[in-house]
Amino acid sequence: MTYNSIYSIIFSMSDITLKTIITQHIHLQPPNHKGWQAVRCHVCNDHTRKGLRGAFLFDGDNVIYKCWNCSIVATYKPLEH
Ligand SMILES: [Zn+2]
Repeated sequence: MTYNSIYSIIFSMSDITLKTIITQHIHLQPPNHKGWQAVRCHVCNDHTRKGLRGAFLFDGDNVIYKCWNCSIVATYKPLEH
């Protein structure tokens, strides 16, 4: 059994995912047509008049954060580790 498959089993047994933690602590907008859930960016404070420019995308176990204002991109892909 590979490390990845062991990790997958452990991960799937746990109800606590990064998505769970994020959505419990941050108020996100409903997903847009591409699945992005907007939020005010805490990196650049996102104080433009263009609306909320930061957003999370939850794609299975992967979590991606991107801000269209300051261009920060952060990804969490647990099964690729
Ligand atoms: Zn930003």
